[in-house]
Amino acid sequence: MAVETTLVLVKPDGVRRGLCGEIVVRFERRGYDLRGARLLKVSKALAREHYGEHRGKSFYGELVDFITSGTVLALAVRGEGAIAGVRALMGATHPADSAPGTIRGDFATLLSENVVHGSDSTASARRELRLFFPDGLL
Ligand code: UDP
Ligand code: MG
Repeated sequence: MAVETTLVLVKPDGVRRGLCGEIVVRFERRGYDLRGARLLKVSKALAREHYGEHRGKSFYGELVDFITSGTVLALAVRGEGAIAGVRALMGATHPADSAPGTIRGDFATLLSENVVHGSDSTASARRELRLFFPDGLL
């Protein structure tokens, strides 16, 4: 493994429900470092770009509408094996599979409103961090 930096988004449902602190503490407790944090309203253009891999899928429009529906907290999270480690803390995409103890397993019952996003590979992390932190990281 290597020291990696990954993009986490607390999606609008998570921000609306006041879960930012609860989510950040889990990454900090695990031992990851916060290298960037930004509250923003995601534009349609940024949303389409960020979710570009899903373009053409049935849920793409709904996904773009949802991520642009409110404030998002973007985090750059760094640590040993952080890309897979953050995904593990987040839990599975589908609510039926997300285990209790994970963020989604503890806070989400809907596939479309599952509280968090995390980059799924080195290439995705690099691409997504550049989109949400265009000025770079500390
Ligand atoms: N999603 C959805 N319907 C689907 C599959 C995914 O609404 O059939 C949403 C879900 O909120 C998910 C996001 O689209 O978090 C991105 O999907 P992906 O497969 O990349 O899952 P993730 O990487 O977020 O676990
Ligand atoms: Mg994904």
